[in-house]
Amino acid sequence: MSTAVPPLIRTQDNAFWFDAAAQGRLVVQRCTACGTLRHPPGPACPMCRSFEWDAIDAPLRGILPSYTVVHHPPDGSLAYPLAVGLVDLETGTRIVADFEPETSLDALQIGVPVEIRFAEHAHGELLPRLRLLAEETP
Ligand code: ZN
Repeated sequence: MSTAVPPLIRTQDNAFWFDAAAQGRLVVQRCTACGTLRHPPGPACPMCRSFEWDAIDAPLRGILPSYTVVHHPPDGSLAYPLAVGLVDLETGTRIVADFEPETSLDALQIGVPVEIRFAEHAHGELLPRLRLLAEETP
């Protein structure tokens, strides 16, 4: 049995993030009152409660502190097993994204560097997608 991928929930609070992703940019929301970076996007700063914010471009690299391999629910628009990673960005914020379908599950390890690219999601939206970076030689 196949289930449909749930629709992405675009709101007035996160539309800027999806709009940036559609341009191949990864952005992080920043409170303009206290400078705190936050992700996922939200209307108010969790530190000072200000509603004033802007967004900065994040580097398209990070470190993998955790990952999982998804087998369910099956969906014809996704390739299984589907590796999904949590990424620590240099900004101090984190994102969750799928790995490229050709990623070797044997190569996934906590703490490895990853690169963030963008690929079309099942709904036609351009979203971050992870690629393992080869270990850098000293
Ligand atoms: Zn703040």
